[in-house]
Amino acid sequence: MRQPLVIANWKMHGKGAFNEALVTDFLTALKEHRAECVLCPPFAYLGQLSELLGASDVMLGAQDCSHIDQGAYTGEVSAEMLKDIGCQWVIVGHSERRQYHQESDGLVAAKLGMAQRAGLVPVLCVGETQEQREAGQAESVVKAQLLGALSDLPDLNGLAIAYEPVWAIGTGLTASPAQAQDMHAFIRDVVRDLDAGNADTLRLLYGGSVKAANAAELFAQSDIDGALVGGASLDAKAFAAIVGAA
Ligand code: PEP
Repeated sequence: MRQPLVIANWKMHGKGAFNEALVTDFLTALKEHRAECVLCPPFAYLGQLSELLGASDVMLGAQDCSHIDQGAYTGEVSAEMLKDIGCQWVIVGHSERRQYHQESDGLVAAKLGMAQRAGLVPVLCVGETQEQREAGQAESVVKAQLLGALSDLPDLNGLAIAYEPVWAIGTGLTASPAQAQDMHAFIRDVVRDLDAGNADTLRLLYGGSVKAANAAELFAQSDIDGALVGGASLDAKAFAAIVGAA
C-alpha cells in the first residue's frame, strides 16, 4: 500500500507576509489527511517555512539542488545544505529547469545522486511536450528521461517520480485521468526493469494544473499516488482540499 503524497511547488512566488498567511491558513484548513504533504518554497523562504511549519506533520522541500557538493560555485545550493536547514525533500529535473536552464538528463542524474547521498528524498520530474505527444513520442521521451536520470542510481528506494506533461503545466490543461494513468503504468514498468524490488512501492505523482476540482478523479487511478501542485498550492483552501482528496 503506497501512502499518498502531495507536494506544493511554489516556484518563484512568495513574500514574508504572504507566506505567513498562506501557511497559517493552509494548516488551519488542513483536516485529517492520509497523505504525506510537502511544501517547496523558494530557497530564500525555507528558513521561514521551517519555523511556520513547526511541529505540524507537513514537511519541507526545496525546488532544486546543486549537482556538486561544495566549492567555488557562486549561486549554487548543495543538497547537504538543504538537509542541514531542515529540508527532507527536493524536486529535481523540473521541466522549467530543463527548459530555462538547459538541464540535461546527465545533470539531473548527478543532482539525484547528491540528494540521495545527503539523505534527502528526491522527486524526479519527467514529461513530454505537446509536440512530442502529437508526434507519438510521449512514451519514448519519458523513458529516455527516466533511463538518463536513474540508470546509475544504486537504489531507487524512497525516490518519488512526478509525471508532468509539459503541455499541462500552468496552462489549465490537464491530462485526462486515463491519459495520466496510462503513462504512470508505463513509468512503473520502466522502473520495474531497472529495480524490480522497488517498482511497486515507488510513488508516482501527477503534475499539471491539478486543482481541487480534478484531484479526486486523478487520485482514483491505480498508479497515481498523489500530485505535484504548482499554481493551486498558492491558495490555502484549494491546496488543503487537494491534500484531503489524496
Ligand atoms: C508544477 O510546477 O510542477 C506544476 C504542476 O504546476 P501547475 O500545477 O501550476 O500546472
